[in-house]
Amino acid sequence: MNNPNKQSNDNPQNDDQKKNDRMRRSAGFGLSYLIVGLIFIWLFQEFILAPLVAQQTEIPYSQFKDMIKSGQIINLTLSSNQITGTMKVTPTAGSTATSEPFITYPVPNGDPTLIQELDSAGVKYDVAPPPSGIGTFLVSYVLPLALIGVVWYVIYRQISRSGGIGGSGGIFGVAKSKASEVKPEDVKVTYKDVGGADEAIDELREIIQFLKTPEKFARLGGRIPKGVLLVGPPGTGKTLLAKATAGEAQVPFFETSGSEFIEMFVGVGAARVRDLFDQARAVAPSVIFIDEIDAIGQSRGANMRFGANDEREQTLNQLLSEIDGFDSLTSKPVIIMAATNRPEVLDPALLRAGRFDREVTVSAPDLTGRIQILKIHSRNIKLADDFSIERAARITPGFTGADLANVMNEAALIAARRNADAVDMQDYEAAIERVVAGLEKKTRIMNEQERTTVAYHESGHALVAELVPHGEPVAKISIVPHGRGALGYTMQMPTEDRYLMTRDELEDHIATMLAGRAAEKVIFNEISTGASDDIKRATELARRMVTQYGMSDKLGAVTYSNQQYQFLETDDNTATASQQTLKTIDEEVQRIIDEQYARAQQLLSEHRVALDTLAKELLKTETVEGEAVKEALSAEETAPAAIAA
Ligand code: ADP
Ligand code: MG
Ligand code: ZN
Repeated sequence: MNNPNKQSNDNPQNDDQKKNDRMRRSAGFGLSYLIVGLIFIWLFQEFILAPLVAQQTEIPYSQFKDMIKSGQIINLTLSSNQITGTMKVTPTAGSTATSEPFITYPVPNGDPTLIQELDSAGVKYDVAPPPSGIGTFLVSYVLPLALIGVVWYVIYRQISRSGGIGGSGGIFGVAKSKASEVKPEDVKVTYKDVGGADEAIDELREIIQFLKTPEKFARLGGRIPKGVLLVGPPGTGKTLLAKATAGEAQVPFFETSGSEFIEMFVGVGAARVRDLFDQARAVAPSVIFIDEIDAIGQSRGANMRFGANDEREQTLNQLLSEIDGFDSLTSKPVIIMAATNRPEVLDPALLRAGRFDREVTVSAPDLTGRIQILKIHSRNIKLADDFSIERAARITPGFTGADLANVMNEAALIAARRNADAVDMQDYEAAIERVVAGLEKKTRIMNEQERTTVAYHESGHALVAELVPHGEPVAKISIVPHGRGALGYTMQMPTEDRYLMTRDELEDHIATMLAGRAAEKVIFNEISTGASDDIKRATELARRMVTQYGMSDKLGAVTYSNQQYQFLETDDNTATASQQTLKTIDEEVQRIIDEQYARAQQLLSEHRVALDTLAKELLKTETVEGEAVKEALSAEETAPAAIAA
């Protein structure tokens, strides 16, 4: 059988190796500085300071006094903090010396009789000049530091100079961009290796068009986008997409990662950015890809990590000015692509129009996407005849491309362990368990019951939105878990910007928000926690109708909300109302909610067939377009018998 270890493309391994290489290089670079520094200090102390402070025997003060009396001290020098001198010693087997330097330390408040004793013992003594604290300090600290500084500076200047002019990179090549130019012929992945990202691919294809025929777009004075930001959760294939783009683009492609700009020295990152853009401009039209751009693009001042901040700020500023610097009207455009899974931390300056003005979202794949991805990753794996890729995709909702690649590989390993000829469904299921155990257990895996509930919930929203007179058209419904907490979503597309809303419209809106829960109630006669956010928003809207818009007949056109608190969602809004009124407000809010909830239930019971159709469709494909809602409703009309049944 095939070697199960083999990935369907071998790029990731190359990649890892490259990354490791780079990491080792920069780690080695910092380390070499440290070692050189330490050796330097050691040499300084050993050969410069040590001879000055010759080897002396330290003796206790009492012994020193005894030796004065017994005439063993030959001479000495007194200073305020130490007493040094020579003393007589009896030659030993090891040495023939008759005298030896010694050191001892004076008693704290001086020894008033010492001079007398020295005089009477006839010892030759002198007194050291008063110690200059500064002098010692200079010699033992400032001098070595200054020397290190000079050496450091010389090395640094050397490397920045040689790196800066694009030379061989000097000793360490610090200022040289570490981005590597990817040759189209070296790229092994294409868009065929990316599954379930058709929308992202379409957008990227458009960008490639800009690069290939810039004149066509510039002809009418249009401005070609400068930057494209790929945004999406980890493992959804952002890096993969960018690599595939390199192959498809057929223009020079520079690939680097945000972290490669952050080094120990302030200014190095900026120099690297400059170098990178110089290289790219020289061969334009070209693409620069910066992976994990949040490493440099983090909001300034958001994260005060010690020391690294100055560097990041300079690097970011350089990046901004480079992006602004190139002219998008030329026939030789440079397009900068970047990827991040944390768009919220990016500096707003980066996202401003004229910089990264295209944002391509790469999200977790739906069923069709997962089928494509599993096909891609099982290309080199021998699957059992009864292995159903569709079923495999169906039981892994919420898995990203990286998760699926991982599961497929794990399944192959499990099959190999039991000496099987091919990977079967059991292997795959065992692999899921193993991979899931390693994943954060968020809401990623839903059981069948939960999926059904979510499918009906979202279908409820969609149908009611379609059925009420003022509903906004539904664009897309999905039961792919998205982000934290959201198990599915119904996307509505407002047809126009609205500045005024009537009471009817607001009520329709509330009915739509409550329709998710209404569907659960109608179908299962049971309600779930999945509606908490809907309820919160519906309640807030109903409360505003009563207290701000004066839409309650009972209370009339009186505002009970304190304008001052408009933007703070506090309950103090109604602080100006009397107890009696507060009670009425609550009752009115309750009434609106109850009425609309009942209305949604009514609508859904009447269109139970469409609700079933839509939910089943959702369970099958996980995402459906807005069209499906209309289809479900019209199918119902043509088959009225179904209602009776
Ligand atoms: P990201 O950069 O979004 O975190 P990567 O591009 O590094 O994710 O994806 C890691 C690996 O997961 C890829 O090398 C590929 O093997 C697999 N993978 C992820 N998304 C997809 C996809 N949409 N289609 C096929 N493989 C994918
Ligand atoms: Mg990545
Ligand atoms: Zn809902």
